[in-house]
Amino acid sequence: MAVRSFAMLALALVAASGSAQVPAGALPERAVRRDIPMTNAIQRAFAAGTRDSTGRPGRNYAQLRTDYTINARLDPATSRITGRESIVLHNNTADSLSSIVMRLDMNMFLFNVPRAAPWVPAEETDGFAITRMSVNGQPVNLNAPAFGRGGGRGRGGAPAAPTENTASGLRTTRATISLVNPIPPKGQATLEVDWSHKVPGGPGQNHRMTQRWGDTLYQPTQWYPRVAVYDDLRGWDPELYLGPSEFYNNFGRFDVSIDVPGGWVVGGTGILKNADQVLTTAARERLTHVLESDANHMIVEPNEVGPGQATAPGDRLVWHFVADTVNDFAWVTAKKLVWETTRATIPGKGPVPINMFYQPGDAQLYTNAGPTARHALEFYSKLWFPYAFPQLTLQDGPSAGMEYPMVINANQGAADHETFHQWAPMTVSNNETWYGWMDEGFNQYANILSAADRQGVQPNLDGRGQSYGSVSGDESEPPMMWNANYAGPSRYSFVTYSKTPLMLSMLGGIVGDSAVWRAQSEFGKTWMFKHPSPWDYMFFMSRALKQDLGWFWYYWLFTTERVDGSIQNVTTSGGTTSVIVREDGQMPSPVVLKVEFAPTGPAIRPMANAKMIDSVTAIVTWPVSVWFGGSKTFKADLSFGARKIDRIVFDPGCRFPDRDPSDNIWPRTASVTRTPAGRGGRGGGGGSACGS
Ligand SMILES: [Zn+2]
Repeated sequence: MAVRSFAMLALALVAASGSAQVPAGALPERAVRRDIPMTNAIQRAFAAGTRDSTGRPGRNYAQLRTDYTINARLDPATSRITGRESIVLHNNTADSLSSIVMRLDMNMFLFNVPRAAPWVPAEETDGFAITRMSVNGQPVNLNAPAFGRGGGRGRGGAPAAPTENTASGLRTTRATISLVNPIPPKGQATLEVDWSHKVPGGPGQNHRMTQRWGDTLYQPTQWYPRVAVYDDLRGWDPELYLGPSEFYNNFGRFDVSIDVPGGWVVGGTGILKNADQVLTTAARERLTHVLESDANHMIVEPNEVGPGQATAPGDRLVWHFVADTVNDFAWVTAKKLVWETTRATIPGKGPVPINMFYQPGDAQLYTNAGPTARHALEFYSKLWFPYAFPQLTLQDGPSAGMEYPMVINANQGAADHETFHQWAPMTVSNNETWYGWMDEGFNQYANILSAADRQGVQPNLDGRGQSYGSVSGDESEPPMMWNANYAGPSRYSFVTYSKTPLMLSMLGGIVGDSAVWRAQSEFGKTWMFKHPSPWDYMFFMSRALKQDLGWFWYYWLFTTERVDGSIQNVTTSGGTTSVIVREDGQMPSPVVLKVEFAPTGPAIRPMANAKMIDSVTAIVTWPVSVWFGGSKTFKADLSFGARKIDRIVFDPGCRFPDRDPSDNIWPRTASVTRTPAGRGGRGGGGGSACGS
């Protein structure tokens, strides 16, 4: 593998340079690991040719496609949705599938299933009531014994051939349908399911688990039985829906018909196909002006309520939506729902509508939502790739702060963050359940850039990487490569959301922030509408950044280590100043020194690895490989000549995790403030050394 040969080359260079030495007979003080751990799952993918060390989809990469046709009816009197769906499962893989795994997320509300969240904010319900299933027209036995297929084992312990399709796990969040006739490679099957469920209400809100306000507003999500992902890493996704972790879904077409009372406006994923049947003439006329300017337009006014006013006349109306390639479908409906619109202009693509659906009393939460969503759509289109969908919809309701394809359950407060999710995971579809940092963490990082752009300033990523040093090493923190479904409620948020911007702050400190943005964008484009793994990300980024970053990914993603750098001593002899840099942590870093010279004196001689940032300040850099020999100290020789040096700072951008940054400055001063513990401190203020 190419990455290993990079590592060998680096080792050879270090040995040749002699810049780090291990005393004979002594163990290395710090054994730096430089390769990316390869678990069985990723080794299988490499062996099958589905993924490789380029970080791009391998020649044999394949994924399922699932096309849904759903007919659903909402009855507000009982708060139940009754649905019938037909799912065409395209098995594009090289494997024969003898089972289909289903995700039954509504069973979370049975309250007798495994859950990781002690704070479930929703009521107990009867979960998914599945009344009929068939595969290719053949019925599925919904009452089969939990273990064994087709009557168990025959004589001598050999499994008996199954005689009927059977389902197990229907009262959990993960069910398995065992098939009499496996779905062959490149074959397909049609699965039909009839179900009903109560849309879970409070007592709480502001979480995806709470999906209605009384019997007047419904935000159905995770609301239809769906097929799990089958991938080259683990086969059928083995995870249960435990609450905190999010989802991992197949792409496909959704053709969804939603039957609601007349007067109830519906918004959701996809394009509304039958506006002439469900909207008033006035609303349809107003919609023709949405893309003309950045102005807001009312499609359904607050005082337009009921059949014939908010919608076309009729006791019940069926709203028909189609989305061509998405990995989920969400919607909202309410007895009184304002529909306001604006637009965003996507580079290279043109204008797309932004729809806002909110209750009349919540109008103040949406006054700034349009401009925020517009900025997010336009900014992230430039940061990653042009927005991939034909519209964006913001939905009011208790399920606030959640994302679905073309849909964000958010008002202006979370509009920026939730809009980024249209890139990850809605287009670049990582396994959110295991590795939420690939969508939530990338998102938190992108939000920093978006906020700076809104303010018209350069983003400042200094300080964030360093701040991890003050919280690292806590034994309750799982590494980011730990399955986040089991990260524990106290650390889920830090590992999934907060840590990635700290990691990417350090990466920017090594390769430059704009190089990180370019590489992330290339990674995103490469994996559009596919399922990248963390290994694909690591390999892709190392290639794109033209560095063997195995050590970087190992320490950030597989450990909870820090750098803990310091300047131990500085001595001057002749024209050379020797700086003893020490790293007490397990994570290595490049050696980056800011050297501040006296304003006058002999000429400052150039150094090959130094860059003058003004007439009296140099940034001098040695590569991370100076640590690969194992020593925890490195003698950095500055040969700038006889000009007096006033001050030297290790890691001037404050990018490397450091428990105590006050010892990074020579001569030591008392005025250094540490970056705030546990937060992505911005640095740069109050005597901090941050900022080169
Ligand atoms: Zn998020």
